[in-house]
Parts: sequence; C-alpha cells; structure tokens
Amino acid sequence: MTRLLIIGPPGSGKGTQAEHLARHFGVPAVSTGDIFRSNVSQQTELGSQAAEYLDGGDFVPDHLTNALVKDRLLDSDVQSGFLLDGYPRTAPQVMELDNMLASQGVALDAVIELRAPDAELEQRMRQRAEEQGRSDDTVGVFRRRLDLYHRETHEVVSVYAGRGILVSVNGSGDPGEITALAIAAVEKFLATRTGA
Ligand code: ADP
Repeated sequence: MTRLLIIGPPGSGKGTQAEHLARHFGVPAVSTGDIFRSNVSQQTELGSQAAEYLDGGDFVPDHLTNALVKDRLLDSDVQSGFLLDGYPRTAPQVMELDNMLASQGVALDAVIELRAPDAELEQRMRQRAEEQGRSDDTVGVFRRRLDLYHRETHEVVSVYAGRGILVSVNGSGDPGEITALAIAAVEKFLATRTGA
C-alpha cells in the first residue's frame, strides 16, 4: 500500500526512475506525460487537444489534466498503491490531487524529488533527442519546459517539504546508482514513518 509521487526537471530521467521505483515498490507508474503522448499518437480527442501544448513545452490546461488523473485514479490497479510521475506540477494541481485522494480516504506516503544541475539536464535532453526523437526535445522547447519547472513546480516541492513527506535525491550521475539511492532513501523514510 504505497502511494508515491516523483518530481524532477525535464531531462532528469524522471520517467526511467519512475519505472524502476514502481517495479521495486510493486505499484503501477502513472505518467501524465506518457498518457498524453500515447493519446497523441493514437489520435484520440484528448490527444488532439493536448498535442499543441506538448509540442510547445507548455502545460496542458488543468481541466484536461485533472480530469485525466481523476479517472485514472479510479482504476482498480491503482487502489492498493501507485507512483505518480509528472502530476501535480502546479499548486492548483496539488489541491486537486489532495481532493481526489481525500475523497478515497487515502494520502501520499512520500514524494521523491530528483535534483540535477541545469547544464546536465540539457546535455541529457540532447542525448535523448537522438535516441527517442520526442517532439518536445529541442533546445528551445526544452528551455521552456525547464523554465516552467523552476517557476511552477518549485512551489509543489515546497508544499510537500512543508508536510514533511519530501525525499530529495541527487539525480546526477549514473542512472542505476540514482535508482539505488532513491530506493534506499524512500525505504528509510517509510521505515521512520511507520516506526519499523
Ligand atoms: P518532462 O518532465 O520531461 O517535461 P513529461 O513526460 O512529464 O516530461 O511531460 C511532457 C509534457 O506533458 C509536458 O511538457 C506537458 O505538456 C504535459 N504534461 C505532463 N504532465 C502534466 C501536468 N501535470 N500538467 C500539465 N501538463 C502536463
């Protein structure tokens, strides 16, 4: 029964770490970015509404994002835990998530923040652009996403820090080592909380 959230700047390897952590903790990873991208590639109605925002590096409007997460959190596979990746990204989304979880009588156990210097993030994005060809991995769009991260998502991190559930992890270096660090940090945190 673990409910986790991972937050990290673009290029921090958040999606990759989310998959490894989800596997370790035995919960499904729920990535809003992945859900939007698959809707775009399958040309759904949601995909057509979200595409221009993704391509420009802008946030998809809250009414679309919140509705998507609300629906997803009602699925049976996430009832006994999940790892949210990419949501919430703004203070209003934090409140929305609070309401969704409160209505189910549950709460987040821990929030993982991946930290890495901007220069390393840009370097990684350039590499990912060659490997995966994501439409939002161009220097201009990347800088827009990074700027939005610093402006909006910083507040999200502060809120969870204030609640005492933030676990910050050094996200620079070897991906395998970062996974190990993150797992150790989260397990230690969860153990102190349950008094185990
Ligand atoms: P990254 O963290 O590398 O920017 P994501 O896969 O998390 O990548 O997100 C890709 C894009 O999906 C974002 O730039 C944005 O357009 C959209 N998106 C994902 N999550 C949200 C969210 N919580 N609110 C608004 N837009 C979102």
